[in-house]
Amino acid sequence: MNPLFASLPTTIFEVMSGLARETGAINLGQGFPEDAGPEDVRRKAAEALIDGYNQYPPMLGLPELRQAIAAHYQRFQGLDLDWQREVMVTSGGTEALAGAILGLIEPGDEVVLFQPMYDAYLPLVKLAGGVPKFVTLQPPHWRFTEEQLAAAFSPKTKLVLLNNPINPTATVFARNDLEMLARFVTKSDAIVVADEVWEHIVFDGREHVSVLSIPALRERAVKIGSAGKIFSLTGWKVGFVCAAEPILKVLAKSHQFLTFTTPPNLQVAVAYGLGKDDAYFAEMRAGFAGKRDRFAKGLTERGFSVLPAQGTYFLTVDIAPLGETDDVAFSQRLVLEAGVATIPVSAFYDRDAVRTVLRFCFAKRDETLDEALRRLETVAIRRNS
Ligand code: GLN
Repeated sequence: MNPLFASLPTTIFEVMSGLARETGAINLGQGFPEDAGPEDVRRKAAEALIDGYNQYPPMLGLPELRQAIAAHYQRFQGLDLDWQREVMVTSGGTEALAGAILGLIEPGDEVVLFQPMYDAYLPLVKLAGGVPKFVTLQPPHWRFTEEQLAAAFSPKTKLVLLNNPINPTATVFARNDLEMLARFVTKSDAIVVADEVWEHIVFDGREHVSVLSIPALRERAVKIGSAGKIFSLTGWKVGFVCAAEPILKVLAKSHQFLTFTTPPNLQVAVAYGLGKDDAYFAEMRAGFAGKRDRFAKGLTERGFSVLPAQGTYFLTVDIAPLGETDDVAFSQRLVLEAGVATIPVSAFYDRDAVRTVLRFCFAKRDETLDEALRRLETVAIRRNS
C-alpha cells in the first residue's frame, strides 16, 4: 500500500460529521448548506437527465458550459478568457486541484503553501513528490508579509497553492497582497494554483480579486472555481479550471486520466445557472451575510470571541479568552456535551498549528442556527466564570 495514504487519518470533516450523526448533534462542522439549492437549476439537471444526452460529453466539458464560464467571469471579475483554449470543466474543485498539482510539478520541486490550508492540499503535493514550504498565517488578520514570502520562496519554487477567500479563516486577500505574491512568483518562474471556490461568497461590499486579473499572473496562474459552492449544491462536484493555453493543455492531460469527464446533465444545469441575473448572486450573498451576522451576534452575546468573517460559509471563534488551549479537545466537548459539531482549525496545519480557533459553518436555516446558539448558551459563561 502507498504509505502516504495508508498513514493518513480520516478527514476532520468526515470525523466530525460522523460524530454529529452518532450523537444527534447539530452539524456546524463540515461546510455544506442546509438549503436545497436553487430549484430552477436542479430542474434543469433533472430535465437534462431524462430528455438529454447521457453518454460521455467532450473531455474538456460541454461547449455551452465552457462558454458560460468565460461569460460569467467576464461579467463578475472582468476576465477575458478564451473558452476554447483557456477553460476546462472538472469533477469538482478537488479534481481540479489534484490535476493541477500532478500536472505541474515533478518530484523535488518546491511548493509554497499557506497555513492554515484546506486539508487536501498537502497530501496531493506529497503524492506528486513536491517539497512543501510553509507560510504560516496568524489570527486575527491571517495575512502574509514580504519577509515570510522571502523566506518561503527559492529558485526551486515551482508552484504556489493559494486559497482566496480562505477556508477556514474566512478572510479575503486584497489586490495588493496578490501583487506582492506575484513579484515572488515571477522571480522564481513559478505558477500559482488559486483555489477560488468561495469567490461569490464575500461580504460587506468586498470584491473578489482573481489571480488571473493580476497582469503579472495572467500567464502563470490556474484559477479553480466550483459550481457546488456557487449554487450551494456541494454534492454535484462540478468544477472548472481557467488558465493560459500552455498550462491548460497540460491540465487536460492529467484530467483525461483522473476522471475524463463530468456528468453531462449537471453541466447543462450549471451552464444555465451561471447565466442567472446579477440579482440572484447579490441575493445569495446577502442571504449568507445575514446568517453570518445573526450567528456572530448570538455567539458574541454568549461570551464567545468571534473573529471577523469576510467571506465563505464559515466564521471562526478564538477560544483562548475562555482559557482553552486545545481546540481538538474543546470541539470534542462541544459535540458531546453541548450537541454542536464544529471543526478545530489546528486540523488545517502541518506544523506550528494555532490551537485556539474553532470554525463554525453558518450556512444553515435560521432555526438551526438559533437552536445551536441555545445549546451553546452556557458554554462560554461557564468557562468565563
Ligand atoms: N469543503 C468542506 C469544508 O471545508 C469539506 C469538504 C469535505 O468534507 N471534503 O467543510
